[in-house]
Amino acid sequence: MSTTDVMVEIRGVHKSFGRLDVLRGVDLEVRAGSVTVVLGPSGSGKSTLLRIVNRLERSDRGFVTIDGELIGYRRSGERLYELREREVLRQRTHIGFVFQNFNLFPHLTVLDNITEAPVNALGRSRSEARTRALELLDRVGLADKADAYPRQLSGGQQQRVAIARALALDPKVLLFDEPTSALDPELVGEVLDVIKDLARAGTTMIVVTHEIGFAREVADTVVFMDGGVVVEQGAPADVLDHPRHERTRAFLSKVL
Ligand code: ADP
Ligand code: MG
Repeated sequence: MSTTDVMVEIRGVHKSFGRLDVLRGVDLEVRAGSVTVVLGPSGSGKSTLLRIVNRLERSDRGFVTIDGELIGYRRSGERLYELREREVLRQRTHIGFVFQNFNLFPHLTVLDNITEAPVNALGRSRSEARTRALELLDRVGLADKADAYPRQLSGGQQQRVAIARALALDPKVLLFDEPTSALDPELVGEVLDVIKDLARAGTTMIVVTHEIGFAREVADTVVFMDGGVVVEQGAPADVLDHPRHERTRAFLSKVL
């Protein structure tokens, strides 16, 4: 992989909470336009890893770059200086995050949920942000819901709005943390379909999910984490059908 193809680089990332070593040296490269699905048992550090990528959490060691830009630090000669919060916020606009529980603003309409960050964080005009929001709502199949409030939508619809909201910042990478885990089973497909469309359009994504069928169909790379390390990674057919490690086999036998 040539360095110009790498959109997300995670190197030697360690993270502890008190005496709990949650990440114990994670390395990962995500190529531009590719989909990486991260699997692993509860507590293996998947959410923590995503939160470190967009600097909702700081790593104790190691670093993350997005499109070649170091996240959270400025390099000056041999030294690293921590960025101020305002600069971290700017970096974070390049990193879309879709949460398990949607995290929409309940007091804002769907349209205002999507335009809030482009207007306030990127300084786009209201009319420009609105036009783009309506395009994105159309893309996720919710053109008729612009004036609804989140509580008036199903979970699947709310999650599709959350995806549109993340896309409104034109992120370089989209991170999903179990985007369908909070949904009733019959609503999972509509959200996965939106993510599949994004994959086809070449959006760079890291998706934490337990949806193995989705991983098989959409992932370029499947990563299996356990105990704060990447146990193995590779093409879906290799990792899912011919896992090399006993821990991967044991996990897959439970979720398949
Ligand atoms: P996963 O997403 O794979 O289930 P997490 O990254 O959420 O795993 O959590 C890994 C471990 O770190 C868990 O044991 C969790 O309880 C712990 N943990 C996560 N965040 C914190 C925190 N802010 N403070 C203390 N412990 C945490
Ligand atoms: Mg998690």
